[in-house]
Amino acid sequence: MSTPTVPLHIVVPTPAHSSAAPILSYAHDVPLPAGTLVRVPLGAREVLGITWDEPQGTGSELPQLRRVGAVLEGLAPLPAPWRRLVAFAARYYQRSLGEVALSALPPSLRELTADQLTRRLRRMPPGTPAPDAGAATVQTETSKIVVLSTDQQSAAAEIDAHPGPFLLFGSTGSGKTEVYLHAVQAALTRDPGAQALVLVPEINLTPQLEARFRERFDALWGASAIVSLHSAMTPAQRLKSWLAAHTGQARIVLGTRMAILASLPRLALIVVDEEHDASYKQQEGARYSARDLAVWRARDVGAKVILGSATPSLESWHASDPAVGRYQRLHMPARIGAGELPRLRLIDMSQQPRKAVFAPPLIAAITERVQRGEQCLVLLNRRGFAPVLHCGACGWKSDCPHCSATQVFHKSDRTLRCHHCGCASPVPRACPDCGNPDILTIGRGTEQLEEQLAQLLRNVITRERRAARVARIDADTTRARGALKAQLAQMHAGDVDVLVGTQMVAKGHDFRRVTLVAAVQPDGALFSSDFRAPERLFALLMQAGGRAGRDARYMQAQQSAPELWVQTWHPEHPLFAALRGHDYPAFATRQLAEREAAGMPPFSHQALLRADARTQEAAQDFLRAASEAARTAQLPGMDQVFLYPPVPLAVQRVANVERAQMLLESPHRGALQHLLAAWQPLLHAERTRHRAVVRWLIDVDPQAI
Ligand code: ADP
Ligand code: ZN
Ligand code: ZN
Repeated sequence: MSTPTVPLHIVVPTPAHSSAAPILSYAHDVPLPAGTLVRVPLGAREVLGITWDEPQGTGSELPQLRRVGAVLEGLAPLPAPWRRLVAFAARYYQRSLGEVALSALPPSLRELTADQLTRRLRRMPPGTPAPDAGAATVQTETSKIVVLSTDQQSAAAEIDAHPGPFLLFGSTGSGKTEVYLHAVQAALTRDPGAQALVLVPEINLTPQLEARFRERFDALWGASAIVSLHSAMTPAQRLKSWLAAHTGQARIVLGTRMAILASLPRLALIVVDEEHDASYKQQEGARYSARDLAVWRARDVGAKVILGSATPSLESWHASDPAVGRYQRLHMPARIGAGELPRLRLIDMSQQPRKAVFAPPLIAAITERVQRGEQCLVLLNRRGFAPVLHCGACGWKSDCPHCSATQVFHKSDRTLRCHHCGCASPVPRACPDCGNPDILTIGRGTEQLEEQLAQLLRNVITRERRAARVARIDADTTRARGALKAQLAQMHAGDVDVLVGTQMVAKGHDFRRVTLVAAVQPDGALFSSDFRAPERLFALLMQAGGRAGRDARYMQAQQSAPELWVQTWHPEHPLFAALRGHDYPAFATRQLAEREAAGMPPFSHQALLRADARTQEAAQDFLRAASEAARTAQLPGMDQVFLYPPVPLAVQRVANVERAQMLLESPHRGALQHLLAAWQPLLHAERTRHRAVVRWLIDVDPQAI
């Protein structure tokens, strides 16, 4: 006697680039609703799978199919909107459904047995959140009443009244977070089961955000209604947050880009803070844009979406142009408390002493501020300025043996390290080529800047009659768990007078006593080959400047005005004129006109085909063959997509692998999508013919060319 069986369609984790169908058929004794998590055999392993479409037929005997192992019964099926989202993401970003769907689940879910999961679920507090009795009174007691500014009020009213999507274009310090809080409260009050998702670009911004949300909402909906979701959490924490979101127990999910793929059955609102930030684009696996998926997901389920920024991406700015009208633009020009935006002080470095890293007038300005008890922030745009070792006698440089990049000098542990492949070696005592013992560092990293600044300020005494303190925050000082938090706390407490740092310190932080911000080496981005470099630099300088003078009352008490100092060799560059006027719209208009003339995004759509191979020649050969194959096969969309010739990547060789890429561009997103989808099988076929190719990948809407 054999048991009755029904066939089930199940999504399993297939390798991203295998051409194997990601949906396999398995047999089970009863039909299961789509979205059910199951454990199934795959090859010699047992893996987590997700039942996909509705079961077809019943009762027929299918001995050739392998059987479903176990059903994770305690868990409600992943809802249809979630399945539509991952299916769309897989299709749009040209990856397998199995990879995208399964990698969107918390890793520990993939390992738990059905029993282990049941036990885990039993430990969770009850499903529906019960508001604490007397919550309303607690609310008025604990949190200060915030009266929205006129700008905030009108933005909030528009969000309440219209469907969106919204681009909240608000100056730094205009109180965008307060508008998010209002919108979240409105959405969650309107529907007692509704959920909101709030995305931030950096993991280290989540604690600060969580604190603000808890202060406001813990009393209303209970502490378990708010969860965070990001990759720095332990697997157990991540599973817990994910389950809370999936069961609907979490009403508010705060997270980084990965949170966009969480299961949120009652999603009513998505907020994408600092929407212009490049870290919303995933840079490996399925290279999705969490911001773009947020807009798609919101529309798909009828949720609202708010994209917020002081310097929106040109894509979003264009979409919110009234003539285009895809997004509704909400403008908040004024700072809270009538605070001033920082005045720009451009220093022409050609007029400064030769080899000065800090122009004397900047040092004078910092000194004055520190003496008055104010804080300063010195920003280094790290790219390309990390210190390398150099021999003046023979020209030797500390090149990485495995990459076309230079190893960077790390003073703290006296090593040379490659920032691309990670390989490290001790600093040589003498030049390895000519034996010259006098090898020098060229270029400056944050470490050198910190030292030099401390030296320049060594005689400065603060108002509290102590020596000025200089500190540094960058990837090196924050490697240890909790280090960044501790360092930021010192800054907030006023234990530090001048903070030197990379991009990391420019983003989001609400420093109350910083009155001067200086960018010391921003020029690299002015003439970069990447067409997005000016956009990034403008955003970075506006963001950084936005850290100065955030507390209007403090500024008044100090009788101080915020300043943004920029040291440049090109003070005449138009970017600085727009920066001086805090005039993002002028900057954007100019950039968009240039992009339109050159047919670049957002006026065209791009994708990259990248190949990694043992030699540069092999990588480029593969790309050329791929492009030839597409032409010969006359793939759909071909006539509307331009294929550029292959070129090496800026960092051409990493860990002994040569990298090349080919740009595809089209005025029509649809044509590009059709071509990419039809191309996949040809690419698999080419790959088998090009044995020296290590891997290939497609990057849709790439962030950097
Ligand atoms: P943004 O995100 O736009 O840079 P924030 O939301 O961080 O600005 O707000 C800047 C500061 O102003 C914060 O300290 C915030 O608490 C305060 N703030 C925001 N809105 C108000 C308001 N309506 N009344 C008083 N303070 C406010
Ligand atoms: Zn030498
Ligand atoms: Zn290397």
